[in-house]
Amino acid sequence: MRPDILNPLFAEVTALKGVGPTLAKPLERLGIARVVDLLFHLPSGWVDRWPREELMQADVGRTIAITLTPTDHRGGSSPRAPTRVIAADAHGNAVTLVFFGRSSGFARKQLPLGEPRRVSGKLDQYGQDLQIVHPEIGGEEGDFQEREAIYPLSEGITSRRLAALVAQALARAPELPEWIEPSLKERHQWPAWREALHRLHADPADSVARDRLAYDEVFANQLALSLVRADTRKRRGRALKGDGRLRDLLTLPYTLTGAQARSVAEIEGDLAQEAPMLRLLQGDVGSGKTLVAAMALLIAIEAGAQAALLAPTEILARQHYETLRRTLARLPVEIAVLTGRDKGRAREATLMGLADGSIHLLVGTHAIFQEAVGYRDLGLVVVDEQHRFGVAERMLLQAKGRTPPHVLAMTATPIPRTLTLAIHGEMDQSRLDEMPPGREPIETRVVSEERVDEVVDALGRHLSEGKQAYWVCPLVEESETSDLQAAEARAAALEARFAGRVGVVHGRMRPQEKDAVMARFSAGELGVLVATTVIEVGVDVPNATLIVIEHADRFGLAQLHQLRGRVGRGGGHSVCLLLRGRALSETSRARLALMRETNDGFRIAEEDLRLRGAGELLGTRQSGEAAFRLASAEQLATLLPVASDDTRLLIDRDGGLEGARGQAARNALYLFERDAGVALLRSG
Ligand code: ADP
Ligand code: MG
Repeated sequence: MRPDILNPLFAEVTALKGVGPTLAKPLERLGIARVVDLLFHLPSGWVDRWPREELMQADVGRTIAITLTPTDHRGGSSPRAPTRVIAADAHGNAVTLVFFGRSSGFARKQLPLGEPRRVSGKLDQYGQDLQIVHPEIGGEEGDFQEREAIYPLSEGITSRRLAALVAQALARAPELPEWIEPSLKERHQWPAWREALHRLHADPADSVARDRLAYDEVFANQLALSLVRADTRKRRGRALKGDGRLRDLLTLPYTLTGAQARSVAEIEGDLAQEAPMLRLLQGDVGSGKTLVAAMALLIAIEAGAQAALLAPTEILARQHYETLRRTLARLPVEIAVLTGRDKGRAREATLMGLADGSIHLLVGTHAIFQEAVGYRDLGLVVVDEQHRFGVAERMLLQAKGRTPPHVLAMTATPIPRTLTLAIHGEMDQSRLDEMPPGREPIETRVVSEERVDEVVDALGRHLSEGKQAYWVCPLVEESETSDLQAAEARAAALEARFAGRVGVVHGRMRPQEKDAVMARFSAGELGVLVATTVIEVGVDVPNATLIVIEHADRFGLAQLHQLRGRVGRGGGHSVCLLLRGRALSETSRARLALMRETNDGFRIAEEDLRLRGAGELLGTRQSGEAAFRLASAEQLATLLPVASDDTRLLIDRDGGLEGARGQAARNALYLFERDAGVALLRSG
């Protein structure tokens, strides 16, 4: 349960004065729903106002604050003619205040003739005259702050309005007991949490306060990961020692790469321990993770336990099931598949088999952890594409075994080195840093959208050689319907040319329909698969050696890399065509150029981080687990190692977070919503 002291921060923004439904909308677009979101909506910049006694030529271009006395009202007779208020400073120098449109009547009222007013705005020169367009009008002397925060905005809310709401939120922020280690705080001269917030919102240039707040976030994240890690270590699972009898029966058309063999050995070592394994297998697309997983599963089954493979989507679950059935065909291993779609008698039979132990290996989606699914003796869970699963899900699956099962997570999303600790800090790591032999790098070209006809011609030649292709249309959430229409229109256009050879898959289709299309594509009945990003992860059709990606500039680099990895899986030459729009930003251009230049997922991840910043890269869509909203990429790089050491030390000393600092640290977990970690404290 969240500590009471934090409750005021988790109240809805609508509890604040002046926030009704009209304001709630734009706030929601900014991700602000609760008071705490306002506190953490940090200013992105600031304006300095120069307080002045006298109007001066030298200040042209600056934002000044000055006391002026209106001497004349002009214009504003028609809605289109601007209102001009002539005003003078204390020395008699004149300036024209200009108001366009609807604000003209308002200006006359706010600036009555002969009455001094405090005014602020950017001083411009217009011909011989000084002028200020749409100045802000204050009342008394101290009305304008010298430095004013600028906030990230959405339509319907101004920076000033936001600042006023932030002020309300700040007033509700309690003093919190300190969770940062005293010597560390001292060394950086960090202020207390509440003071840091006040300071930063008052002066966005205060980098000491900004660092402190970023540290808090990183600290909470690392603490949650350390808790998971400590909890795993503490639990007694069960040692799984394979005798090799199943693996000996396996006949593979190739030998393991060095990296695969090493990873299998590391996993075998972990499984032989009583402490449950928590290991991450990182390997770029196509590096052969499935085979490593298969070996791990076989070890567990040799040791007499059941094993499960969890996939993020229906399609991938079915595909893994088929692959494993093929690979393990001659082995005495009973395999079953279970997804949300399996119902009725087949599902009952699977549940029975799991309960009585006659099924050794289960492949499926989240459905395999539903309450009704009971295992006789679950020993190992392999989680494919783990970036889609969070700490909470991992805990859920821990509850399924008689003893906590070993966990092997696999991901093809290369994470920049600086961020590995933040995302996978609690796991041991194995890396497949070597591709199976004979892989040719994928040739990547960037093509203007205007040349789409030539691309279709090239596709025609490709198909006539008996090869297959993917055609990807992006699906961006904001306009799902129109994107869908674009995908369907593209499919129709291609169908007109390559009749009977075109299939479409997209997120709105029912799973059965999707699978049917995928199956026809896998079997070679279809030549082109038009898809939204549902083919993103794991789909494996070696004969598909061309991929066309429309609006490539709309995708993240990591995502493009994943998509591109759908080809180049058969050993033949593969091509990736990135279609780009006409007007490209500098960043988009650089990003597409990078895709052309390299096939190295780790390098792409590093560059993506540099080009886009950590917030976006780690946004919920990509990681689901570690979204940093306060810490920048640079701050992460410097603060992460510190926070990791600090949290480990804290847990060594006070594993239950019972002491004074431990209690304070619990607040940090709740404040940053990493409280899945706290649940572990209770359960342990
Ligand atoms: P990913 O790591 O992306 O999941 P996969 O496991 O799907 O990669 O493997 C990609 C392809 O490489 C598959 O077709 C697989 O059969 C093949 N493969 C895996 N290991 C080897 C190996 N040691 N030698 C040759 N081919 C391999
Ligand atoms: Mg895979």
